Amino acid sequence: MVQYVKQFPKPVIVMENLNGIRRNFRKSKKLNERFHSLSFRKLQTYIEYKANLEGVEVRYLTGNETRNTSKGCHVCGHVARVEGRIYKCPNCGMGYDRDLNTCVNIAHRMMSSMGWGSREPRTG
Ligand SMILES: [Zn+2]
Repeated sequence: MVQYVKQFPKPVIVMENLNGIRRNFRKSKKLNERFHSLSFRKLQTYIEYKANLEGVEVRYLTGNETRNTSKGCHVCGHVARVEGRIYKCPNCGMGYDRDLNTCVNIAHRMMSSMGWGSREPRTG
């Protein structure tokens, strides 16, 4: 992942801010929830460490900003349920690893919020 972002002129890694994550999932099992948060946090720390070594900036988005990034097609924007490891878009037929699809969506969203331009129209 760090190697991938290095190919861009101004590399940056974006991750979801964990503060308040899963706040709305009160029905899920508390222990399970905590386990997932902890292991994900561990992964973030590792990515941050690697990114710092390479001089890559790390940014965080809030849960609101990353909403639906795991369910939306990064090609056409269609939102669909993801089953299994592969995101298969029923609208345009795009098949993609679900994590990569999520990453591309987050990248799109971040770039538009920073004014870098993307397929999403800017307002204001
Ligand atoms: Zn699509």
